[in-house]
Amino acid sequence: MTYQQLSVDSIPEYLSDIPEIGKIFSDFKHLKVSEIGDGNLNFVYLVTNRDRPRESAVLKQSVPYLRIIGKSWPLPKERMSIEIKALQKAAAWCPSHVPDIYHYSHDMCLVVMQDLSAHGVLRGRMIEGKVFPKLADHVSTYLAETLFHTSDLYLDHRQKKELVAEFINIDLCKITEDFVFTHPYERNQTNVYNPELNEVDLNFIHLDCDLKIAVADMKRKFMTETQALIHGDLHTGSIMANTEETYIIDPEFAFFGPMGFDIGAILGNVLMSYFSHEYRQIKLGREPYSYRKWLLDTVENIWNYFVEKFNRLWMEHEVSRKNLYWDYEYGEEHFKCQREIYLQNLFQDSLGFAACKMMRRILGLAKVADIADIEDNKERAKIERMTLQMGKKLVTERTQFHTIQEIIELAKDLSPLK
Ligand code: ADP
Ligand code: MG
Repeated sequence: MTYQQLSVDSIPEYLSDIPEIGKIFSDFKHLKVSEIGDGNLNFVYLVTNRDRPRESAVLKQSVPYLRIIGKSWPLPKERMSIEIKALQKAAAWCPSHVPDIYHYSHDMCLVVMQDLSAHGVLRGRMIEGKVFPKLADHVSTYLAETLFHTSDLYLDHRQKKELVAEFINIDLCKITEDFVFTHPYERNQTNVYNPELNEVDLNFIHLDCDLKIAVADMKRKFMTETQALIHGDLHTGSIMANTEETYIIDPEFAFFGPMGFDIGAILGNVLMSYFSHEYRQIKLGREPYSYRKWLLDTVENIWNYFVEKFNRLWMEHEVSRKNLYWDYEYGEEHFKCQREIYLQNLFQDSLGFAACKMMRRILGLAKVADIADIEDNKERAKIERMTLQMGKKLVTERTQFHTIQEIIELAKDLSPLK
């Protein structure tokens, strides 16, 4: 089928011709379609059967431009092929945290998937101060399973390199290269600043030699390391969850890159939520301690659980393939050292990437609602300054941190937990 952009009106007919969709909807006479996408790039529609509201699906289609800007910002619609394949890869290793795919079409650049409307987008729910007791467990499972199984630690040499080629994602990586690793650290016209941030605040980032070098180094890693198939945009807006279940959506930025980019994205976003709730919890009329404590526990647990799970997968894999390399008297200990070094490097990468993801949300074009929606510019500037301070320290001193507890202490130094 040749590509055509679907609409609320054309979707029922399109779906009615697809045999797999017949298993979701018992009839196509009274389908209700509404556009629900709040993302920047693509069109997302919720389809429900008016007669049987439990029958529903979500259709996501890419268009040959950036949805939020329009045709003046062209972007290959074939990005949906990456999203489809990345969803499939993630589902192969971690099906409980990836939406079910009912149908996809590379030609039509669309996917029809499980409706998760009953699960909120995590960012919005966290702004409201909702607790997700299983989040750290689920996110760490997703990270460990997807990253380990798409790395050279697991894949056969040929399979890995073929996959690297298959997931080359030139245009979406370029967006990250520009908007995460370049523009926020220069006086670029695409940047958007809170008017309450003054020259001193901006120069704190823009004129700092160590910071510029450190960010450039993170950019080099992002552009050159093919460590694993990463989601590429794993912020709290790419997670839909309720108290029991957690789903990771929207992997169109996926490519083979450094694992720390995914880990850092989620840690950085939870840390920004922590800073924002210094203000938000009081606004919500609550005592801030317990929610903010949960956020810090989540940061700590995501990393610690990840280490545990990643280590376990790695050890089980080595045992199962009877690896000769460590099969000698002190081999087991030496293998343990190797794992520790690997995970220490990954930790420091994750900090550097978390830092870039945080700073860019303050200085760059794309903001996070957690902070950007604070209407009082002066209050917002306070949160923004602590985010920048944390980012600067994390990226420039990343190799001096060794435990996640030190990161928690740093966050508490900047914004006391009380
Ligand atoms: P984009 O690629 O444009 O960023 P997303 O995949 O982030 O699009 O989806 C945009 C929004 O659509 C999400 O924030 C969420 O509100 C909604 N959405 C996406 N996928 C689903 C789903 N499977 N079920 C319910 N809502 C969804
Ligand atoms: Mg997206």
